[in-house]
Amino acid sequence: MTASKPYSRIISLHFSPDVVRRPMMYNLAKQYDLTFNILKARISPREEGHMILELSGKEEDYKKGISYLQEHGISIRDVAQSITRDEDSCTHCGLCTALCLAGALYLDQETRQVLFDSHKCTACGMCTRVCPVEAMHAEANGDF
Ligand code: SF4
Ligand code: SF4
Repeated sequence: MTASKPYSRIISLHFSPDVVRRPMMYNLAKQYDLTFNILKARISPREEGHMILELSGKEEDYKKGISYLQEHGISIRDVAQSITRDEDSCTHCGLCTALCLAGALYLDQETRQVLFDSHKCTACGMCTRVCPVEAMHAEANGDF
C-alpha cells in the first residue's frame, strides 16, 4: 500500500445565497477528511458568498471534495489562474516582493530576477496595485 502525498491548493469559491446558509465547509472537512484555511471571505449585500481558501488533504479526497462543492452549485477556480504576470513588461525592480506576503513573488539571489510562483499566490491583489509598469494582472472578476 502506498501512502498518498499531501495535496494543497488555494481556491476561490463563489456561491449563491441559499448555499451561504448551508454548513458546506463543515461537511467538506468531515466527509472528505480535508483541512481548510480561510484566507478571505465576503458575503455581498445580496448575500452571494465569495471565499478564498487553502484546501489540503489527500489528492483523491481533495478531488472528491471539489466534486461535492460543485454538485452543490459552488463555482470554483484555482486562484493560481486569476493573477498573471506579463513577463515582457516586468523590469524586475523588486517592489512587489516586499508586499507579497504569500511569497509568490521573490528574488532569485543568483540571477537577481524576480520570480513568480503562481501556486503560492493568494490573489490578494497587492502586486497589481504597486507594480509601476502594470506587469501584474488580476482577472476582471477577481474581486478580492
Ligand atoms: S513590481 Fe512589477 S516590474 Fe517590479 S518586479 Fe514586481 S512585477 Fe516586476
Ligand atoms: S496577488 Fe498577492 S499573493 Fe499573489 S502575487 Fe500578487 S502580492 Fe503575491
